[in-house]
Amino acid sequence: MPIQERVKLRELSAEDRICNYNEISLGLSEKELEYEANRCLQCKKPSCIKGCPAGLDIPRFIKLSREKKFNEALSEILEINPFSATCARVCPYGFQCEGSCVLNKTGRPIAIGAIHRFISDYGEYRMKMVDDDKKVSGKVAIIGGGIAGLSAAYELSRSGVDVDIYESRPVIGGLARVSIPPYRLAREVLDREIVYILSHGAKIKNNIVVGKDIPLKEFFNMYDYIILAVGASKCWSLRLSSNEENDFFAYSAIEFIENYMFRKKIFDRTLKILIIGGGNTAIDVGRISIREDLVPTIIYRRGKAQMPALPKEIEEAEEEGVKFKFFEVPKRAILENGKFKGIEALQARLGAPDSSGRPSFEVIEGSEHFIEGDVLVSAIGQEVDSEVLAGCDIHLERGLLPHDFGGEYKDKIFSCGDAVSGPSVVVKAMRSGLEVARDVIGRLKERNP
Ligand code: SF4
Repeated sequence: MPIQERVKLRELSAEDRICNYNEISLGLSEKELEYEANRCLQCKKPSCIKGCPAGLDIPRFIKLSREKKFNEALSEILEINPFSATCARVCPYGFQCEGSCVLNKTGRPIAIGAIHRFISDYGEYRMKMVDDDKKVSGKVAIIGGGIAGLSAAYELSRSGVDVDIYESRPVIGGLARVSIPPYRLAREVLDREIVYILSHGAKIKNNIVVGKDIPLKEFFNMYDYIILAVGASKCWSLRLSSNEENDFFAYSAIEFIENYMFRKKIFDRTLKILIIGGGNTAIDVGRISIREDLVPTIIYRRGKAQMPALPKEIEEAEEEGVKFKFFEVPKRAILENGKFKGIEALQARLGAPDSSGRPSFEVIEGSEHFIEGDVLVSAIGQEVDSEVLAGCDIHLERGLLPHDFGGEYKDKIFSCGDAVSGPSVVVKAMRSGLEVARDVIGRLKERNP
């Protein structure tokens, strides 16, 4: 039987999107959903499931959507993914379920992401607590109200556990709210899912910086367990100035994005923005700059093919007008009377693969040249802000929290999400939060059988 064409996913054109933050992807109509769901082969051994970090039963929800049972489909998804609509928008499907779909080898994988999004947008979010006889009692503090922390709170609170979430910002949602631009994830979608998660009983304590306002140790007597879900939001410094401690002219990518996400304009005129880095965060800074009438250039030390950013993000950034300079290694900042004027950079070329198999880069000696700019943004990587650990004998390992805590913290503190893995995709942070919560639920059950 010939394989039917994959549905064409509708999106805003570059022209229609660069002057606003509206969602680019427009989702499926009911007719398109029907067509695409009917293309699914309902494989006996579905390879798509293996590609889903959440482990969703993809053929099952596609089958339910064929039968128009959207509420049932969403209820089943929410059992293992409370951030259903969020993941449906921000997951890199091509590298996950769709990349693993048996039809991918024909170039026409099922549009699983779009079907998932339709179900999440049209199904009803029904609150679901565990049965009374399975409920557990206990008190847990979660430090950090991002994806991992909220996912842990969801699993714990619907099992009957008392949960307090401590969040340093005035808003909840962590980096998903602060740094995923609304053109990829509309804020009303994120809000809807957070309201659903909190409806199970977890309480939020905003504007509290643990480690500064309350020492972490104080929680020891207040809670049975503590979960650190603080994310990795502290950007690495570029250290391009003679003052090693402080690139005072540079913005961190998160600071830059956060300002614009909360509608605080940083610059009131058109400026040239030099963005150092090659990941999705660098792309986000570039695409936000375009929407704010700035002139962004992304500077990366390897080539386009080696960029860690998703190919679709790179493509869309190019369509929108973001400029790229490849094989460039910043050497130092050029200041005139204390004012940033640009950077001196060296050219680079690809070298032998490093231990991860990725081509290394080699600087070409004597290739110094000037790149003009008004503002520098560092998007070279992020780590955990260690402030939360103040007063505790816990140390970061390569900028991240350990998996297991020893000494007096053993079996008392647990960690999850980006704070442990480093910046990753939403679905992995979600899963990490659920897993740590299930571990804590098991321990509470043993304590209070
Ligand atoms: Fe359907 Fe593809 Fe999964 Fe098979 S592998 S069940 S065709 S989505």
